[in-house]
Amino acid sequence: MTTTIFALASGGGRAALSVYRLSGPEAGPILRALTGDDHPRPRLASLRTLRDRRGAEIDKGLVLWFPAPASFTGEDVVELHLHGGRAVSQAIAAALVDLGARPAEPGDFTRRAFEAGKMDLTQAEAIADLVDADTAAQRRQALVQMEGRLGRLYEGWRGEILRAQAHLEAAIDFAEEDLPADLIASSKAALADLAGRIHSHLADGGRGERVRDGLRVVLLGAPNAGKSSLLNQLAGRDAAIVSSTAGTTRDVIEVSVDLGGYPLLLADTAGLRGGAEEIEREGVRRALARADAADIKLLVLDGAAWPHLDAESLELLDERCLVILNKVDLIAGAIPDRLHDHPVIGLSALTGEGIELLLQRLTAAAEERMAGDGAPALTRARHRASLNDAEAALRRAQQQTLPELVAEDVRVAARAIGRITGRVDVEAMLDIIFREFCIGK
Ligand code: GDP
Repeated sequence: MTTTIFALASGGGRAALSVYRLSGPEAGPILRALTGDDHPRPRLASLRTLRDRRGAEIDKGLVLWFPAPASFTGEDVVELHLHGGRAVSQAIAAALVDLGARPAEPGDFTRRAFEAGKMDLTQAEAIADLVDADTAAQRRQALVQMEGRLGRLYEGWRGEILRAQAHLEAAIDFAEEDLPADLIASSKAALADLAGRIHSHLADGGRGERVRDGLRVVLLGAPNAGKSSLLNQLAGRDAAIVSSTAGTTRDVIEVSVDLGGYPLLLADTAGLRGGAEEIEREGVRRALARADAADIKLLVLDGAAWPHLDAESLELLDERCLVILNKVDLIAGAIPDRLHDHPVIGLSALTGEGIELLLQRLTAAAEERMAGDGAPALTRARHRASLNDAEAALRRAQQQTLPELVAEDVRVAARAIGRITGRVDVEAMLDIIFREFCIGK
């Protein structure tokens, strides 16, 4: 028997309004008990006074009735738009529990919608992403996925595999019959083509994952080169700091930045020069580990020592680096356009000179890595892992000669893709996927 769940769907705390949502077989009877009235007309807002079982008034508000199956979850759903505030919230929650509903767990509503076939798993994930979206690029990506484009792409691929599988099985089962002679060869060719398309889809530089998680940018350089000053300059410009979190280690400070709609995770690391102290050496080790995982490294060189440059920093130069010569306010002459074959951005984190140019370069780099051609991008490691499995199975199928073995690999590929949209054996994954939702979604 399914329970009837409820949750505050809007943000908590003091507010003009709060929206509560109920879903399940008892939603209708509970609504009738709260209003002392019959169901209002479906999907139309009606003003009602809500009372608990003893007849005490809780609040006046709008109630909406969405009878199954035309509701978000596919079950009977009720929405209550009440006044925001803790006392109302406590009273309504107590009344709902009293009437037999139970508080929802994170993701419960979306999980029910998925289980009712209202959406596939990628769409369910997109709802969580939309709720979490901080920047325009994240919002756009979540909308594309929520609308179902990613899911349809994968379901299309699974359809192609199932078709090839049917042909292969026909060739196996009816070997003696008059089937087209090249059934196996043509199926394998179609699957090889699909493996190629999956491969290109995977080789997108992690675009969708970057948009979802933020482009990782790390500030590197010797102590006193001006990394923290630069971080503050960036934070005070058009780039708005979304949040500031102490990093996973105490030596890394990380801020989320919205750069022209693109999400960046900007990390300020400990200075590179290790002192004798254990703690400092550990800081340097962590800075370097962080740099390893970064998409873009901002290598900050201290212009106070110009034309001497920090050799340790220069050792880190690679194609992921943007080279920054800081403290140009202290440099009298002209500075070079390039250093060690890398373009240099001269700036002053003190006066702000040159920061705009850095922001332009960073935005261009973010765009290059995150703007797509409009095609939906995979957004999670989970998608990537399953697609890798599918591609590997399709490639293995090409190597097989026995039709039965080809068919077995093809089945594995179909299952791998089906796992992404939730069409096959996903029961075990559902808890993991829906746990990352907020309550009320
Ligand atoms: P970090 O150790 O790399 O984070 O360096 P800080 O940002 O703490 O800066 C070290 C010192 O350099 C501070 O005294 C800053 O005020 C100074 N500083 C940073 N940027 C500039 C700059 O562009 N020009 C000048 N003249 N001083 C700067």
